[in-house]
Amino acid sequence: METLASYVRGRWERGSGAGQTLVNPATEEPLAQASSEGVDLAAALEHARAVGGPALRALGFAERGALLGKMAEVLQKNRDALLELAIANGGNTRSDAKFDIDGAIATLLAYAETGAQLGEARFLVDGEGLQLGRSPRFHGQHVCVPRCGVAVHVNAFNFPAWGFAEKAAAALLAGMPVLSKPATSSALVAHRAMALLVEAKFLPEGALSLVVGTPRELPGLLGAQDVLAFTGSGETGARLRALPNVIEHAVRVNVEADSLNAALLGPDVEAASDMYELFLKDVQRDITQKAGQKCTAIRRLLVPQAIAPTLRDDLAELLGRVRVGNPALEEVRMGPLASAAQLAEVREGVARLAAEGRLAFGGAQAVSAEGVAAGKGYFIAPVLVEFDAGALADAVHAREIFGPVASLLAYSGDAQEAVSIAARGAGGLVSSVYSDDVDWVREVALGLAPYHGRLYLGHPKIDLAPGPGTVLPQLVHGGPGRAGGGEELGGVRALAFYSQRVALEGSRPVIQKILGMRG
Ligand code: NAP
Repeated sequence: METLASYVRGRWERGSGAGQTLVNPATEEPLAQASSEGVDLAAALEHARAVGGPALRALGFAERGALLGKMAEVLQKNRDALLELAIANGGNTRSDAKFDIDGAIATLLAYAETGAQLGEARFLVDGEGLQLGRSPRFHGQHVCVPRCGVAVHVNAFNFPAWGFAEKAAAALLAGMPVLSKPATSSALVAHRAMALLVEAKFLPEGALSLVVGTPRELPGLLGAQDVLAFTGSGETGARLRALPNVIEHAVRVNVEADSLNAALLGPDVEAASDMYELFLKDVQRDITQKAGQKCTAIRRLLVPQAIAPTLRDDLAELLGRVRVGNPALEEVRMGPLASAAQLAEVREGVARLAAEGRLAFGGAQAVSAEGVAAGKGYFIAPVLVEFDAGALADAVHAREIFGPVASLLAYSGDAQEAVSIAARGAGGLVSSVYSDDVDWVREVALGLAPYHGRLYLGHPKIDLAPGPGTVLPQLVHGGPGRAGGGEELGGVRALAFYSQRVALEGSRPVIQKILGMRG
């Protein structure tokens, strides 16, 4: 069995010890082992800071963008092999796997384009210059320069390619070297992507490193110029933020954590209308895509009381058609959860919901999955739990269940009631609103806005709309409160996290000369 090595200090280094075994979550067949034990992480970080950082900072944005373009090319050329690995190690259907791999490629290309647009500059001029006193000579100008440390990226298991690429794209374009740590259970895809990039030999030495295994001591080694971007559970995020070195050195930390994303149906929407069908389609996709293991997946459906029973029946019918099984089979529409631990956690979550509401479809019990030996794999069927209008439904708003599980909450149709129910999620990545009544949409959207990083306003006339679950590189990804309080992507906004904003204050001609600006 292959033992995955880490790529640090410009070479592959194998950890000692047996490490953790990566499996195919559909069949439980072991695929590889990974360990970071014995890998000198302090030296790896220092190499990235000392070698990768200066090499990247010497390049302009367009040159860094060109590197991202080449990264995208390498992944595109090897797309089929990466898809196969995602199917085997991630429990992804082919369509789920494309969502991850193609998302990675598209995000790299988007940031390559941003780099080309930013041109030869090596840092960003932030806003207009300011006259600070009576004399126009006394001048101020903000600029954003790359930080001199290393960007450590700790990723979640659900998007091994996209998570790796979207974080790396922003950091590399900003001029910071990256050390990426994929989640262990699904690390094969990120590991292969790294191997392909190393083989292609175009990245400056030290610009990109990868540590596989469970290097729990890694975040504790970061200093004042380093940054840590974490995606995963709220508990781990809170632990990382509270590390003594993080507090003492004010290490910049971005956390993308849990989210109880809501989808709100307006009181004007009639059954079988285009808006209703769009809502159903988006909800069904979000419950089943990647077996619901998507940080942006819809978890709570807020549906007017009058239409809730119809919607429940229509959705249950759609969920009943989903074929669950080995994602390597073409006819299968939903694969397993990523690991035995995830399955146990999701089952517990379903039991908590069912104790307060009513199971309208599926349940926590074992499911017979197509194309796998009986009892094998981490499968669960899609689950829908319904709650009456006015029900407390504490369990719904208390904890994200990271699987194919959604709660249907009936409400009166009143905009303020919808907002206050959704706000019980205590901060989310994205919620979606479906209505043709623009006044209702305005009230709901502005009411939800303080609690979210993104709001998706569904409309059946938008062709090929990806639904709320797709994160686009042009728009910010992150959210307040439970969602971690972080922000990634959003075009050029993403560079801010990897940059130091500094105010230059002094003589205008001097500042303009330094910045290469015309007076
Ligand atoms: P997790 O246990 O927090 O793990 C996430 C990552 O952190 C993994 O790479 C893990 O490594 C690493 N890790 C765990 N404990 C660590 C520690 N003490 N020090 C350093 N690294 C540590 O989360 P998970 O259960 O795998 O992921 C699922 C959660 O992620 C869900 O709750 C979901 O909501 C959230 N998520 C959020 C987003 C978003 O964009 N907001 C996206 C995807 C997922 P190992 O794998 O080696 O343990």
